[in-house]
Amino acid sequence: MPLILIYLGFEYFSAKKATLLFLYVSMFYPIHLLIFLVLKERGLFSFWGILKIGFFILEIAIVLYLIYYPNETLQNYLKIKLFAANFYPLKDVSIAIGIFVLFVMSALVMFGRYLLYSTTFLNLLVAFYLALFFLKTTHATEVAFLSFSIIIFILLIRESYRLAFYDELTALPGRRALVEDMAKLGRKYSLAMCDIDFFKKFNDTYGHDTGDEVLKMVASKFSEVSGGGKAYRYGGEEFVILFPSKESEESFVHVDALRQNIASTPFSVRNKQSTKKIFINVSAGITQYTTKDKDPFAVMKRADNALYKAKKAGRNQVIKD
Ligand code: GH3
Ligand code: MG
Ligand code: MG
Repeated sequence: MPLILIYLGFEYFSAKKATLLFLYVSMFYPIHLLIFLVLKERGLFSFWGILKIGFFILEIAIVLYLIYYPNETLQNYLKIKLFAANFYPLKDVSIAIGIFVLFVMSALVMFGRYLLYSTTFLNLLVAFYLALFFLKTTHATEVAFLSFSIIIFILLIRESYRLAFYDELTALPGRRALVEDMAKLGRKYSLAMCDIDFFKKFNDTYGHDTGDEVLKMVASKFSEVSGGGKAYRYGGEEFVILFPSKESEESFVHVDALRQNIASTPFSVRNKQSTKKIFINVSAGITQYTTKDKDPFAVMKRADNALYKAKKAGRNQVIKD
């Protein structure tokens, strides 16, 4: 996108205007990426979507205005020397902005929650700078266009994959991912069906939003299950753990360790004034695949029956069928 602008600028603008366009785009685009990254994927048609589009139009308007009505004072400020080295064709201010944006993005990649999303933005930014430096070389623009298209294509694929297979609230893979993965399993695997105890009561006491917070914390415990198990959010406050090539005896140890871990972890819950520490319990039922099972859903059904037994037997326990 920014490269198309610059390219068109060099084609159709006078040299002076094109240079200005280059200057502004090289400054604006990193900031643009950063703002969009921070706003995250809030959808194109929501309030944030409209804000994004408005912001985008405003950016283009400002750049065009500055090109058609050049402002000498502003340009002199922007061409100010900050570094001893020369970064032609980039101006020092663009470099300073670039360093700042790269720094913030790297921090987001390292500490942020949306790893894939942030990384893609970082890629975009790096590709943008590479393309700028090689802009004058033969076919560099074509190569840059191509790589940009590929990156955006990958971004779209990855995003739609994430939206389809990962649960929004807990960031765990969801039911669709479970069905997909179960189809790939071999003839030996075990499966645990888990459910938070008395979660309805918890919601009634602390409210649904607090319930969501606790659900997230419990889900992150599930994601750290040992023994090569993979946790999925099956729905509501129910989770499934798959243990490829493990028998129920082995899986039992890991699921029970997880149950104990959750039961002994105090979760901080903010009430109106005070912060309270509460404890959450989960129950689970485990089973393994047998040759009698027509499909993975038969295995799941047995695990669900075992879970039901665990609930009846007093909760906060794991039962093997
Ligand atoms: P038990 O499993 O021990 O028998 O009791 P329970 O109260 O947990 O069982 P039940 O399955 O009847 O209730 C599940 C409750 O979980 C219903 C709903 O209030 C809550 N719940 C399900 N999904 C969510 C969610 O995404 N967020 C929040 N906050 N609550 C949820
Ligand atoms: Mg339930
Ligand atoms: Mg429950």
